[in-house]
Amino acid sequence: MLGPAILAASRSDKMRRIVSAAPVTKPVVNRFIPGETVDQVIPIVEDLTRKGLEVTLDVVGEDITTVEQSYAARDAYLELIARLAGLGLGEKAEMSVKLSMFGQALEGGHELALANVRPVVEAAAAIGTTVTLDAEDHTTLDSMFAIHEELRRDFPQTGCVIQAYLFRTEADARRLAAAGSRVRIVKGAYKEPAEVAYLDKAEIDKAYVRILKILMEGEGYPMIGSHDPRLIAISQELARTAGRKLDEYEFQMLYGIRSEEHLRLAAEGHRMRVYTAYGTDWYGYFMRRLAEKPANLLFFVRSMITKN
Ligand SMILES: Cc1cc2nc3c(=O)[nH]c(=O)nc-3n(C[C@H](O)[C@H](O)[C@H](O)COP(=O)(O)OP(=O)(O)OC[C@H]3O[C@@H](n4cnc5c(N)ncnc54)[C@H](O)[C@@H]3O)c2cc1C
Repeated sequence: MLGPAILAASRSDKMRRIVSAAPVTKPVVNRFIPGETVDQVIPIVEDLTRKGLEVTLDVVGEDITTVEQSYAARDAYLELIARLAGLGLGEKAEMSVKLSMFGQALEGGHELALANVRPVVEAAAAIGTTVTLDAEDHTTLDSMFAIHEELRRDFPQTGCVIQAYLFRTEADARRLAAAGSRVRIVKGAYKEPAEVAYLDKAEIDKAYVRILKILMEGEGYPMIGSHDPRLIAISQELARTAGRKLDEYEFQMLYGIRSEEHLRLAAEGHRMRVYTAYGTDWYGYFMRRLAEKPANLLFFVRSMITKN
């Protein structure tokens, strides 16, 4: 019951001001978003890759309102890619982008987001890495998939995300499970209506397995975005049944969540990628992490009470 309420709060400007200004917020935020600047996140990338993990980097900041902010988002990714290139980290670190941050919700947003994301994809390819387009709320997905298709004409390695909670996703998975495609499957983190999405956890898990099966039996490269031990075990089983080798799919988890499991899977020889978000506009990302596990919210509230 708490999850939907927290997701609703993630869209509230008033809550944003209260949470962002609370003196105890920062240490709790740092668990999930380990830096605000490129300088702060690079040592994290170095540390993770030294441990045998791979990384996907997300510059947070989805709630933009001006075209200038969309250019700033593009430039932030270009700066990041330039820094990764200088350190030779290109092959171990890819980028995750939210098209809303590139202007998708503004007037003429589809073309603007495409124009902003293209140079980022180009720069990533030049240093031997890739970009994955994150999935946001369901109203944005037709535009995201069209941009994905357009980018793949020149950069076929560009990835995208599909969300198991949406009714549409099995059909999307069938279309995307083609040779050369890279698809991250996740449960889904946004507040969606019952007309378009399963709301029941067990139904979402069942859909996840059906979609995973489509991806594993297809010709693309599945990226399993989940911390759920049952789904991870099922993924391994489906990969075996489909005759996939260890480098023909990968696991992905979020920074700060089940970190010991990142290392365990990597030690077993799996490709394990840690989704690492950084930046100053962390509110939306942080609130989704609270919504996923209400115990996080209790920890957050308790720390506010005990510090005050
Ligand atoms: C790499 C990656 C990329 C993602 N990209 C997207 C995206 O583009 N679009 C989108 O809608 N969603 C995205 N998500 C979020 C996803 O949709 C889920 O909301 C999130 O992964 C939680 O689902 P779960 O599969 O881990 O299973 P759950 O059943 O939610 O969690 C399983 C277990 O993992 C642990 N856990 C999960 N979440 C948390 C948390 N926040 N804090 C502490 N412990 C936790 C708990 O132990 C929990 O019992 C992404 C997730 C990952 C891992």
